[in-house]
Amino acid sequence: MPDIQARIETIFEQVVRRNAGEREFHQAVKEVIETLGPVLRAHPEYTEHKIIERICEPERQIIFRVPWQDDRGEVQIHRGFRVGFNSALGPYKGGLRFHPSVYLGIVKFLGFEQTFKNAVTGMPIGGAKGGSDFDPKGRSDAEVMRFCQSFMTELYRHIGEFTDVPAGDIGVGAREIGFLFGQYKRITNRYESGVITGKDPRWGGSLVRREATGYGVVYFVEEMLKARGESIEGKTCVVSGSGNVAIYAMEKLEALGAQVVACSDSNGFVHHPRGIHLATLKRLKEAERRRIRDYAAERPDAKYVEAGRIWDVPCQVALPCATENELDERAARTLLANGCVAVGEGANMPVTPGGVRAFQAAGIAYGPGKAANAGGVATSALEMQQNASRDAWTFEYTERRLHEIMRRIHRDCHETAAEFGCPGNYVVGANIVGFRRVADAMLAFGVV
Ligand code: GLU
Repeated sequence: MPDIQARIETIFEQVVRRNAGEREFHQAVKEVIETLGPVLRAHPEYTEHKIIERICEPERQIIFRVPWQDDRGEVQIHRGFRVGFNSALGPYKGGLRFHPSVYLGIVKFLGFEQTFKNAVTGMPIGGAKGGSDFDPKGRSDAEVMRFCQSFMTELYRHIGEFTDVPAGDIGVGAREIGFLFGQYKRITNRYESGVITGKDPRWGGSLVRREATGYGVVYFVEEMLKARGESIEGKTCVVSGSGNVAIYAMEKLEALGAQVVACSDSNGFVHHPRGIHLATLKRLKEAERRRIRDYAAERPDAKYVEAGRIWDVPCQVALPCATENELDERAARTLLANGCVAVGEGANMPVTPGGVRAFQAAGIAYGPGKAANAGGVATSALEMQQNASRDAWTFEYTERRLHEIMRRIHRDCHETAAEFGCPGNYVVGANIVGFRRVADAMLAFGVV
């Protein structure tokens, strides 16, 4: 058998050649396959059956035109995507992102990550992602509705409760999910609750789905700290972003006795040394859809920094919850110099490879998104369970399930990292846990 390392490099070169220009996808693939050497050496059958080559090639990729009319009557054209990456463990599952940066490379990186993340949850869900280069920011509700209706008018034929189950991501929240589901129901003549998750709890959604990703990240960080004999209580925290993930990470941090001193949006960040006032933030972001600069106007002892670097704010716990590659090596070094002991990724791939290397070299607790932010999609799987049984669980019960899932994810990643000779390395742990589950199912199904 050829040397495993050389083989991994050859596969990576092929991925780069076949997916030209898709930088984020290359980055996501590299980050996973470079950790798989030990598992491939222990299991030659994965190599023999070309599992890595197959796993790096999406099962299907759908690209479509999304035409719609804005409030002035002008015709707008966007591009829609849905990539079904892997369905070895269950129907395709993953969110939709509406953001101007969306192109095939972003959707593929997210779909690839999702495949492993979903496997790490231990729930029966495959991996997918989709979205559009449409920007809901600044658009009226009526415009967002017309866009969502046009998007679903093509997407509906590719999805289904046993086929592909979308949900939200950046730019897609309860409002968008409502419009999308409404159009699906209308076109298909079916009230198929399980076709989409992240629904409003008043019509088939799960209590805790909104909170789940943020709460889950904090539970995961809590477990990492516990494994080192530390706790989250009393820690000073910085959380980037101010969307769903960030807001509910902050809420759980506060509940556990930590203090959050800064958060951000794509324009800038606020530093509030007395602690971010969550009720004000929620009203501004959730009810009024306003910007983070308005927070400082309402809370005069907070400072707003336009286009600044949030990671310069000293903290012991850092939760990047905004977007990919938002925390680079320089930021990682600043965090370390300021005494940061734990990092949990609420966003997907928010830390650059250089940043990850810096955290790992320093030996701090670093939880990659595939494990740390898996609580969101795990709660989507709980929503699918409720839909399938036409049941609705209480908040307390659902949160308990989420907490158990996050503890189990931590334990699995921790044990697997140790088993493969890298104790405390959650990147190795999560990648191998996810890979083995997907790979074993693929082997069982034969060449498909
Ligand atoms: N977009 C979320 C993620 O990155 C959630 C996907 C889902 O709930 O299906 O995991």
